[in-house]
Amino acid sequence: MLRADLIERAARFRSAGEDPSRHLSDCPALVLNADFTPLSYYPLSVWPWQTAIKAVFLERVDIIASYDREVHSQSARMRLPSVIALRQYVRVSEFPAFTRFNVFLRDRFSCQYCGSPHQLTFDHVLPRRLGGTTCWENIVAACSPCNLKKGGRTPKQAHMPLLVPPIRPTSWQLQERGRAFPPNHLHETWRDWLYWDVELEA
Ligand SMILES: [Zn+2]
Repeated sequence: MLRADLIERAARFRSAGEDPSRHLSDCPALVLNADFTPLSYYPLSVWPWQTAIKAVFLERVDIIASYDREVHSQSARMRLPSVIALRQYVRVSEFPAFTRFNVFLRDRFSCQYCGSPHQLTFDHVLPRRLGGTTCWENIVAACSPCNLKKGGRTPKQAHMPLLVPPIRPTSWQLQERGRAFPPNHLHETWRDWLYWDVELEA
């Protein structure tokens, strides 16, 4: 079948309407890589149901688990996929982007001087006026009080040692961090693919 036909067929699926307890917008699919690990933990890789169904019709993904919620077209019914796995493995780039969010994630959303999770900002470890650059190795999450206290000094000058020296994390390291911060929305069928090792260790 032509790809356009497949997309057209997928698009004809509409809400069946017999399960008002769950809105279609609440039925995203967790996307796993071909090795059955989530494509991304943070943000968690999820697709809206339309994208998931389209990918199923294009035979790019396999359905691993489904919601009870059904959608139907003129000729077929289908339960919405809740977990899908890519057929082709996607290589994750080795290093994540240097973004504010990723720095917070690396630092576990806590001040690297006192550990506080509140009033978080960023601090240049070696101040800019002393030649400090804006990079993974010189930017840490810091709470406003610590930032103010440290001022334009080095940690040594300010007698404020870092809890953890800042490093440029690999994508894998950052993904591991992300697992500690689960998103609010987790369908029960997702848990097996996200936190099985945590549960085993608990
Ligand atoms: Zn602090």
